[in-house]
Amino acid sequence: MRTIVIGGGLAGLSAACALIQRGQSVTVLEAREGVALETSFANAGMLTPSMPEPWNGPGVMRDLFAALFNPRASMKVHLHAIPSLFFWGLEFLCNAREKRYLQATIDNYRLCRYSKEKTLEIARELNLEFDLAERGTLCTFKDAHHFTSRRELCETLAAFGLNWRELSVPEVVELEPTLEPISDQLLGGIWLPDDARGDAHLYCRGLAKAIEASGSDIQTDAAVIKLITNGNAIRGVETRAGILEVDNVVVACGERMPMLLQTAGLDAPIRPAKGYSLTIDTERLGQLPNVSVVDDLTHSVVNVYGSRLRIVGTAEFTGFDKKPSSVRIENTFNDFAAVFPQIATRVDRELLRPWAGLRPMSSDGRPFIGPTGISGLFVNGGHGPLGWSMAAGSGSLLADLLLNRSPEIDAGPFRFNR
Ligand SMILES: Cc1cc2nc3c(=O)[nH]c(=O)nc-3n(C[C@H](O)[C@H](O)[C@H](O)COP(=O)(O)OP(=O)(O)OC[C@H]3O[C@@H](n4cnc5c(N)ncnc54)[C@H](O)[C@@H]3O)c2cc1C
Repeated sequence: MRTIVIGGGLAGLSAACALIQRGQSVTVLEAREGVALETSFANAGMLTPSMPEPWNGPGVMRDLFAALFNPRASMKVHLHAIPSLFFWGLEFLCNAREKRYLQATIDNYRLCRYSKEKTLEIARELNLEFDLAERGTLCTFKDAHHFTSRRELCETLAAFGLNWRELSVPEVVELEPTLEPISDQLLGGIWLPDDARGDAHLYCRGLAKAIEASGSDIQTDAAVIKLITNGNAIRGVETRAGILEVDNVVVACGERMPMLLQTAGLDAPIRPAKGYSLTIDTERLGQLPNVSVVDDLTHSVVNVYGSRLRIVGTAEFTGFDKKPSSVRIENTFNDFAAVFPQIATRVDRELLRPWAGLRPMSSDGRPFIGPTGISGLFVNGGHGPLGWSMAAGSGSLLADLLLNRSPEIDAGPFRFNR
């Protein structure tokens, strides 16, 4: 049985790897000149079961409306993108109800936890080097409302196994001394010791090497134009080179998934949310944070991978435009400088490497993993802001479902036709 996986990012390569581990032969078709050059390229790198909540929590409508007129808002909808978001946006807002939001948070938590175990297992088995650090996440708080909300979420997830601890300001500084300069602005912190971090792009390159070494192949510059069906079954895919016939196809092409599924008459509620990162070599930056730091007000993240510092922040709904905007780059840097003023003064801004990627956002905050209504056609996508935290687990789930095996966790919350 031969399977084609469309997309060589975290979702596609993880699915391919899991299928190969189960004895299958796979061909990965990737549109770009190499693997993981789109959203899986320079993300924040956080493996965070501790932050599995969808972005559309209760109150999101108010936040988005306020952000329409605030160029510095950390989550922003651009007016020109509203028509393309209309029906998806209605579903996004409907899913912001407390009960749905909480259920999606718990479902995502289970998948992220499973996924973290799988990531470590695969990294060990394949001897992958991707600057993995199992050092936890520290959330810092300047706003009492955000502090209470995060505390309540941690209490909820503790019933499902989350380890967490509330920290006083002196404890925050003891854990992460680089926060000392802003300690007078902090109310406290929450420590999430089981989180990890690692470079997703390096991980993907490692997976790609292992896939090729196993005898399966990855074809780059091989964009799939169309899915070919025969009645209610998949027959293959069409690329510029012609038609490839196969038994199974896994669509894992990030924010482009809806367009491709449409060629088979299927609708996937996924839209792109742009995010930014700035990377700089750590030479001459002085003392750096040891743990991953997340700021409550701006949602910005700061991480160190090997000899690189990465600053990540902001979300924009602005269609498929991937060009980094200078205003958002400036905002991202300013958010960082508000948390790490001392490090910021040592950064040579000319040397910052800006990047923007499109998070594939589903309207209910959960990914789509498994079979579709068309026999032999599967999906693995829509992981939004959690595609690295969920990658290895989603790949395993997909492979088990494709091979009709019992998955190790409940796949129900992630089914395509939910
Ligand atoms: C700024 C930012 C920070 C983030 N931080 C984190 C984080 O800390 N932790 C976390 O868990 N997640 C994070 N994410 C989310 C995570 O990066 C994404 O969810 C994940 O990369 C999505 O992976 P993917 O494989 O679905 O998509 P992609 O990585 O985009 O891969 C899809 C691939 O499909 C290819 N493709 C598209 N169309 C076709 C076609 N027709 N034929 C063939 N190939 C095609 C593309 O070229 C691409 O390589 C972040 C995202 C951003 C933008």
